[in-house]
Amino acid sequence: MDKNLLYRSIPKVDCLLEKEEIKLLMETYGHDRVMEVLREKLGELRRFIGVCQEDGDVFEKISRLPKDICKAVKKSAQPDIRAVINGTGTILHTNLGRAPLSLEHAEKLKEITAGYCNLEYDLNSGERGERYSHFEELLCRLTGAEAAMAVNNNAAAVLLILNSLAAGGEVIVSRGELVEIGGAFRIPDVMRQSGAVLIETGTTNKTRLTDYEAAVTEDTKALLKVHTSNYRIVGFTEAVPAKDLVPLAQECKIPLIEDLGSGVLIDLKKYGLPAEPSVQDAINSGVDVVCFSGDKLLGGPQAGIIAGKKKYVDQMKKNPLTRALRIDKFTAAALELVLKEYLSQEKAVQNIPVLKMLHESAESVEERAETLKRMLVSENIKAEVTVISCRSQVGGGAMPLTEIPSAAVLIRPLYMKAEELERAMRGLTVPIISRIADDAVYLDMRTVEPRWLEQIAKSLGDLIV
Ligand SMILES: *Cc1c(COP(=O)(O)O)cnc(C)c1O
Repeated sequence: MDKNLLYRSIPKVDCLLEKEEIKLLMETYGHDRVMEVLREKLGELRRFIGVCQEDGDVFEKISRLPKDICKAVKKSAQPDIRAVINGTGTILHTNLGRAPLSLEHAEKLKEITAGYCNLEYDLNSGERGERYSHFEELLCRLTGAEAAMAVNNNAAAVLLILNSLAAGGEVIVSRGELVEIGGAFRIPDVMRQSGAVLIETGTTNKTRLTDYEAAVTEDTKALLKVHTSNYRIVGFTEAVPAKDLVPLAQECKIPLIEDLGSGVLIDLKKYGLPAEPSVQDAINSGVDVVCFSGDKLLGGPQAGIIAGKKKYVDQMKKNPLTRALRIDKFTAAALELVLKEYLSQEKAVQNIPVLKMLHESAESVEERAETLKRMLVSENIKAEVTVISCRSQVGGGAMPLTEIPSAAVLIRPLYMKAEELERAMRGLTVPIISRIADDAVYLDMRTVEPRWLEQIAKSLGDLIV
């Protein structure tokens, strides 16, 4: 084998650039991007010649070169963040972006985000406006609060509230509420960052009003309640509900703050779900400032919503930290759209995907599972396909003990391992995220929208060999 001859048969860059398909590629993707891939591919070819055993393999690679370049350029132009199909059944899957927005909302956002918008512009006066103005009144109406704003996420909201209202002073928290949310959000650490001193009171399982009373000093600047979103203490327990702390806060002339975690604006019990403390209840019971996530049970974009007494919210709006934590136009626009749905509870449950998925009946999910099964069977896939009942989780650190009866499509390939199929499904253009059990792949259909069914059936038909 004459390696020199092989090296000499590598096409010259100029020759490749003359090819029609490469010219077209340049027009679409630009000179630099194409050249980078082209050089990379030529380098690969040179290295291949160095190690190859058969001339034929080299000539085949050379003939495929323009096609390979096209493929590689197109692949490099694909965004890395992309839509995935969530077959895990976990509704608020933090790794999969937590709350999905609806197609209708996404469509409306397109117009707002593709150009200029009135984010901080008052269209009536023609002067500077406030970015919270688009949803502040709405939030007040929905929660009963006097004022509201939103920052980057709920962790930021807690930090901003404590820094604005309690820096340099003490904040009393029950030992049963010193929560870690995950991703290094721990109440004691956030407290330290905010410049406030954490004063623990009570015990892990029992904290009484007298514990709070005993912990108050001249330096106490706030009382903080934290919703134990992602764990439960059961058995011999006692905690003081926020409303019972109101008189103490008033007497000491300090704000009572409550971190609610998930922002629930509707009565979940009405929809067959365990009751979670609602934002309205907290405000009604006299809590001065509450905060909650935008992308947990609220079903909106990532945000930390703060609502409460105007004098406190004003203090936060003026805090320089707010500038560092503020939401952008994408979030502001999405938040307004989602909050508007709550003006009518039954519409919210239909139009906000998280709520819709939460309360869809197991029978309805099962129907969708049966539909997918039929589609897979008519694709003649080489696998055993069955519909099984399963349990979905809420996720996102909300309702940790709740399991929602659901249905899954179980796919057991005849000639390939479940792990292999699961990996291949992750490699699709629209990746399908599934679970493995019993040497089979299964898709909990609660989190799979009907619009994906055809694509899933086709992809699996191609994948399973
Ligand atoms: C989830 C949660 C947070 C953090 O909210 P993010 O929006 O994820 O930053 C803080 N406090 C509680 C009680 C939570 O449940």
